[in-house]
Amino acid sequence: MQRKEFLKKIASRFDIDEEVVIGLSRPKRVVEVNFTIRRDNGELMEVTGWRVLYNDARGPGKGGIRYAPYVTREEVENLAFWMTIKNAVVDLPYGGAKGGVRINPKELSGRELEEVSRKFIDAIYDVIGVDKDIPAPDVNTNPKVMSWMIDEYVKISRKYDVGVITGKPVNLWGLKLREISTSLGGYYVLKTFLEHYNKDVKTIAVQGFGNVGMNFAKIAYDNGYKVVAVSDSKGGVYDPNGLDINRVIEVKRKTGSVVNYEGAKKISNEELLELEADLLVPAAIENVINEKNVDNIKAKYILELANGPVTPEAERKLVDRGVYIIPDVLANAGGVYVSYLEWLKNKGAFMTEEKAREALEHGMTSAAKSVFELADEYNSTLREAAYGIALKRIESAMKYRNYF
Ligand code: NAD
Repeated sequence: MQRKEFLKKIASRFDIDEEVVIGLSRPKRVVEVNFTIRRDNGELMEVTGWRVLYNDARGPGKGGIRYAPYVTREEVENLAFWMTIKNAVVDLPYGGAKGGVRINPKELSGRELEEVSRKFIDAIYDVIGVDKDIPAPDVNTNPKVMSWMIDEYVKISRKYDVGVITGKPVNLWGLKLREISTSLGGYYVLKTFLEHYNKDVKTIAVQGFGNVGMNFAKIAYDNGYKVVAVSDSKGGVYDPNGLDINRVIEVKRKTGSVVNYEGAKKISNEELLELEADLLVPAAIENVINEKNVDNIKAKYILELANGPVTPEAERKLVDRGVYIIPDVLANAGGVYVSYLEWLKNKGAFMTEEKAREALEHGMTSAAKSVFELADEYNSTLREAAYGIALKRIESAMKYRNYF
């Protein structure tokens, strides 16, 4: 479904003014930049990138920058729209934005990546700012990349406005909590879900064992849940009695994959998704639950830590069968939530790691409650309710500001 049609459906369901749909159907600003970098072999390489500010009714733009060989302007616009919704779902005082640079980071040396990062910041310097638009890490970018970016920004501006970029290293104005924030935020959302609907989860399967999947598996395991299966791009392992997640992490670190964990059954990624487990946590890539496998999915609950892991067609079938899907725009918003706390700290707020953890728990729990309550009130899916809350908040900001 096209963005506009989907928004229209949400607007009519939750009594939201159709003009909001018009306001949200196109990005406010799209900046395309072209520059060159010098490869280590002396050749010039041409690079294209984008920074999209989708909407700023609720505040400055906020969203990560991804590096990938397949990034397009359209993809960055879609992701910036997604950030507009996500930031509103968890009630952050931000609009939505996203950036993308079309490079293959695996083919570049560290020095070449640094040159790309600094030149991209040079190129988008005029449209970003601590109170204008605030980038962060995304696919293939990390705290190291953010440190090059913030250094470049500070060198150009000659001011320590370090909140302009979040997801920075801990010892360079960052927050340690950022490393596990998406997973911990997802865990708080899950806890709130189980309490609100009076449900119980005994077994969990996690697809993807990177930053998000690994940390989620560890948090769930440390809190007494039985994580029966995990996987990465090479495959997965399954033990109905529960895996020792600390040992899985060690195996992943030493050998590069969870498949080398001994004492459990080896399974494929497809098998993992179709296991008998109460909760399925896709934490790898998009569209993994689709029309092909939806009839074989046995989980009662799905916590979307990855972005867009369930296709709309599959969602319809799952919802009809009574499966609860806790949507990405709520479930994985813990990362941007802690980015917000880092931004506050950089603006001078008193922010310890303990305080940040408390704020994350409070923020994610209250966002989740609002979504579940709205879903109950309108008898909608959790995704519809999350979009409903976001649109109501954006509508209100647009009206107060006389946006049109
Ligand atoms: P990551 O690169 O650290 O980890 C990805 C994991 O997925 C790896 O274990 C990889 O082996 C596995 N994987 C890749 N292809 C796979 C496949 N075809 N089948 C099964 N597993 C596969 O990435 P991440 O930061 O953990 O992000 C995971 C997902 O969460 C992405 O969808 C990302 O957009 C989303 N997300 C991440 C954050 C964050 O803070 N990192 C925030 C919001 C959303």
